[in-house]
Amino acid sequence: MIFPDIVLVRYGEIALKDKWTRQNWEKILAGNISFNIRSEGIKAKISRKEGRIFIHTSDPQAGKIASRVFGVVSISPAQSVNPDLSEISKSAVSIASNIKPSSFAIRPRRSGGTLASEEIGRIVGEAVRNATCSSVDLDNPDLEIFVEARRDKAYIFTEIIKGMGGLPVGSQGKMLTLISGGIDSPVAAWMMMKRGCPISLLHFNAQPYADSQMQSKRSAEILVKWMSGRKINFIQVPISKGIEKIATHYPRATCILCRRLMYRIATEIIRSEGALGIVTGYSLGQVASQTTENIVAEQSGINAPIYHPLIGMDKTEIVELARKIGTYEVTEKTKSCIAVPHKPMTKANVDKILEIDEELGLKDMSKALALEAIHTKIG
Ligand code: ATP
Ligand code: MG
Repeated sequence: MIFPDIVLVRYGEIALKDKWTRQNWEKILAGNISFNIRSEGIKAKISRKEGRIFIHTSDPQAGKIASRVFGVVSISPAQSVNPDLSEISKSAVSIASNIKPSSFAIRPRRSGGTLASEEIGRIVGEAVRNATCSSVDLDNPDLEIFVEARRDKAYIFTEIIKGMGGLPVGSQGKMLTLISGGIDSPVAAWMMMKRGCPISLLHFNAQPYADSQMQSKRSAEILVKWMSGRKINFIQVPISKGIEKIATHYPRATCILCRRLMYRIATEIIRSEGALGIVTGYSLGQVASQTTENIVAEQSGINAPIYHPLIGMDKTEIVELARKIGTYEVTEKTKSCIAVPHKPMTKANVDKILEIDEELGLKDMSKALALEAIHTKIG
């Protein structure tokens, strides 16, 4: 049995950054962890030292909560003792005596202190062996006892629980994610959050062609739980007038022109949102209209970076992630848009599409539609 009084939080990529970036991102990560823990009613001091974040609590939930914060690579609930061999041995013996493993291994790690790893392994191992009937097995032990010896404290723990990885939300710029109410786009939003981007969400209300306002809003309510206390601006813009015009004039290119219209509206909104890019749930070849040729025609002349974080993922991988995020149940039954033509264009000619874009006045239309935006704060 271990009686942890602290949670060790490890982060990967942050540790590789230069000093200024590292300190800045560590601060953001510690703040995000602190928010998530507090919002579950746990009061705990959080400190940072030499490449680790420490949560000073014995609450078993704290580690679990921290492991779901972007930027955390792994966590370990640990017992902290003075960094001397007798205290470390005492703690290790008490753990082993409670668990009664048939074999064990001490996994020592020196991190700035004066104790050498080899010495910790040998002396603590001997103490555990003498106090219990367990034998040492370094290859396949029943129980691993990790010892991280630092200058001021030593930490003893038996578990390394995997975290979400990624980067802390707030370490990159904000992204305006186009959220449809389908399975893919919330996953795309989440992928960008995992790389550090806070998000705003833009939903195009396409009634009577599609009706997924409720699903997109509910997805937003789930996504906000991953934002570590930041609210999500959920923006709705009616787009049906545009779809009607496009579908009447050029039915086969409906999806391509509709997406151009969406991107144009998004570029009208992006600056006031303080966002630096547009995100979609596009995945190559997933539906007939999502092709490399169509991307060229859809994005040509659009004056903002457009990210498609799901571009190389299979639907099964996306669904798996959607389940993990919590948005799958909300979005799985969303019906597709009925304006999608029977045989959508798959190899758009960019010049032709740009010509139609001008002919239909998509630019002016997007400016007019953007004025109808309704903003709601979620979270
Ligand atoms: P999703 O599952 O996200 O709905 P999809 O596979 O159904 O994606 P499309 O309908 O072709 O694909 O849409 C591609 C992307 O365009 C979506 O992932 C989303 O980012 C954006 N999009 C489509 N419809 C809307 C909408 N009504 N409002 C906002 N964005 C949309
Ligand atoms: Mg969809």
